[in-house]
Amino acid sequence: MVETQLRGRDIVDERVLSAMAAVPREQFVGERERRRAYDDAALPISGGQTISQPYMVARICEALRLTGGERVLDVGTGSGYQAAVLAELAAEVYTIERIPELAELARERLVAAGYDRVHVHIGDGTLGLPEHAPFDGIAVAAAAPGFPQTLYEQLKPRGRLVVPVGSARGQRLEVAVRSPEGPALIHSVPCRFVPLVGAEGFDQ
Ligand code: SAH
Repeated sequence: MVETQLRGRDIVDERVLSAMAAVPREQFVGERERRRAYDDAALPISGGQTISQPYMVARICEALRLTGGERVLDVGTGSGYQAAVLAELAAEVYTIERIPELAELARERLVAAGYDRVHVHIGDGTLGLPEHAPFDGIAVAAAAPGFPQTLYEQLKPRGRLVVPVGSARGQRLEVAVRSPEGPALIHSVPCRFVPLVGAEGFDQ
């Protein structure tokens, strides 16, 4: 997976490549998906949601430019896989999921894989986690209909927000750096994520 899907494309951050090699992805999918765990694809998890494609997880992590000491927020816990990769890359990881059953299962899987220091929250991640803000980085693993201003405001100066923005059918990964003049935007790759549902997301 690391050699062909990540290094073989355009992932160059060695810390990200090591983190992707370290996290046992098969422990974050159900029994039926286990043999496909390292496929170059998103896979179904419960609640009609998906565990993101390995390449997109790596791409989001790389865009955050983490060096190890950061506090990060992961919006859309899903399986917990991206949160585990972030835990390899940063000091403190908070993750938030709107579907309680998914959050509970992710919490169990994170603990089983040794990532018990990831803080799993249940709620509307479009509102962020004001009580734990500000963050050095925020990763959103679901498609937002527009730029998520509330999340941006929970970044530290020079903090980075990575979020897929577009319609439910297709998006572009946007990277926003917090700066005094307002968000400095970098347009990244086209992508397709499940919808972000919430106050600053899509309607249910
Ligand atoms: N990072 C996950 C990807 C899960 S898919 C992984 O590695 O497995 C995106 C997840 O975002 C889904 O589980 C979905 O329920 C969740 N989600 C959608 N809208 C949300 C919101 N407003 N707040 C928190 N989670 C949300």
